[in-house]
Amino acid sequence: MSTATPSIAIIGAGLSGLACARTLTKAGLKYTLYEAADAVGGRVRSDVVDGFTLDRGFQVLLPSYPEARRVLDYDALKLRPFYRGADLFYKGQFHRLSDPFTHPRDALKHGRDPFVSWMDKWYTIVLRKEVLTTRKIERRIPEIETEDYLRDFGFSEEFIDRFFRAFFGGVFLEKDLRTSARMFLFLYSMFSTGGAALPAHGMQAIPDQMAVSLPPGSLRLNSPVASVSPGEIILSSGEIVHADHIIVAVSEEVAARLLPDLSGEKHLPARSTTCLYFTTDLPVPETPTIYLDGDGRGPVNSACVLSKIAPHYAPAGQHLISASIIGSPCSEELETVVRDQMARWFGESAYLWNHLRTYQIRHALPEARQLHLGDGPLNAVLVPGLYRCGDWCEDASINGALISGRRAAEAVIGAAA
Ligand SMILES: Cc1cc2nc3c(=O)[nH]c(=O)nc-3n(C[C@H](O)[C@H](O)[C@H](O)COP(=O)(O)OP(=O)(O)OC[C@H]3O[C@@H](n4cnc5c(N)ncnc54)[C@H](O)[C@@H]3O)c2cc1C
Repeated sequence: MSTATPSIAIIGAGLSGLACARTLTKAGLKYTLYEAADAVGGRVRSDVVDGFTLDRGFQVLLPSYPEARRVLDYDALKLRPFYRGADLFYKGQFHRLSDPFTHPRDALKHGRDPFVSWMDKWYTIVLRKEVLTTRKIERRIPEIETEDYLRDFGFSEEFIDRFFRAFFGGVFLEKDLRTSARMFLFLYSMFSTGGAALPAHGMQAIPDQMAVSLPPGSLRLNSPVASVSPGEIILSSGEIVHADHIIVAVSEEVAARLLPDLSGEKHLPARSTTCLYFTTDLPVPETPTIYLDGDGRGPVNSACVLSKIAPHYAPAGQHLISASIIGSPCSEELETVVRDQMARWFGESAYLWNHLRTYQIRHALPEARQLHLGDGPLNAVLVPGLYRCGDWCEDASINGALISGRRAAEAVIGAAA
């Protein structure tokens, strides 16, 4: 048994790297966390621009995520819930879908809208019951595409097209619903039990909260790693660091670059998204809900008045609106086309909104792990002393990144014992 304190290096301070660090801290192990960017968070970052909080791409926390519940202090994050349901724009008007268990009155009021057939309403409830009462249902079904699963379950083509393609297309960042039905069922149960929420001061509050407990001196920002091999990392600055245990906690794309010989996985393209932020002091819809493109005409798949969900996202008297697109279209006309669509949805005042910023996130979600969840996570140990973690090793979500980071740390703890 080794008695010397092992030296440990973590590369990447996204959620997986932070979760890894957290587990090592709890085990009393020392480490250094090397992060290329100027702050922690990775894909969960926010900017404050003119007093508005802009998440780098529209994103939400599902409070029911089991690992997030374990790791995060929700009270301190002051989570602000979304309305449990959605407003779908179809043939010139919005149709409200309300969760009958959270908003029974609304469900009754809007339930007569023939937009959704009674059979589809019924299947929605049956599916909810199934994901809530059958433990780990997602691991027990064959790995098929979400679209096939929904069709086999009995949902009509209309409802799949109008609701599931817009809602879960926005979650998966692909509208063909090719994503594994196992991922769909996991997320469906998370939405069913806890809905969606935003931290009061933006998504960046999540990694910031995790970073608070890092031991002093353990985090090195602005320190990109250029190469990795067992026992050694070389920073872009030329600095060479020797470490007994190296954990690569970067995105799939960067891991493929840093570990070309070792990762051994087939790397498929990532999924991308674009988010345009608008501000206004004019009246906006009141309900803190998500507005969806039920027509499927796009380009905006979903829109949200973020300041109605979390008022701190905008200065007093102002509103912040996000318009999210699946993919990263490259067009000078984009803002105009988006504005036209927003005017169809919310009225002519959308032409007066101020366009604050657009974010294009090319590598938002890893593709491969979405298509095949398999029977478990990718092995955290690549070779002795070299480990990997990240959403692409578990599942493409905040929850997946957190679990994956913890698992990599547990592998280190096991090896260092
Ligand atoms: C726009 C968008 C919307 C999303 N929406 C949701 C959502 O609603 N709900 C949900 O659950 N999930 C969502 N996700 C997914 C979720 O954010 C990710 O799955 C999760 O944050 C991935 O964390 P990670 O630690 O695996 O990777 P990353 O966040 O990519 O972290 C990797 C870290 O490594 C650093 N790094 C990279 N290269 C180097 C290097 N050479 N040297 C040192 N450091 C390096 C990076 O700067 C980064 O900090 C969304 C993602 C995006 C982009």
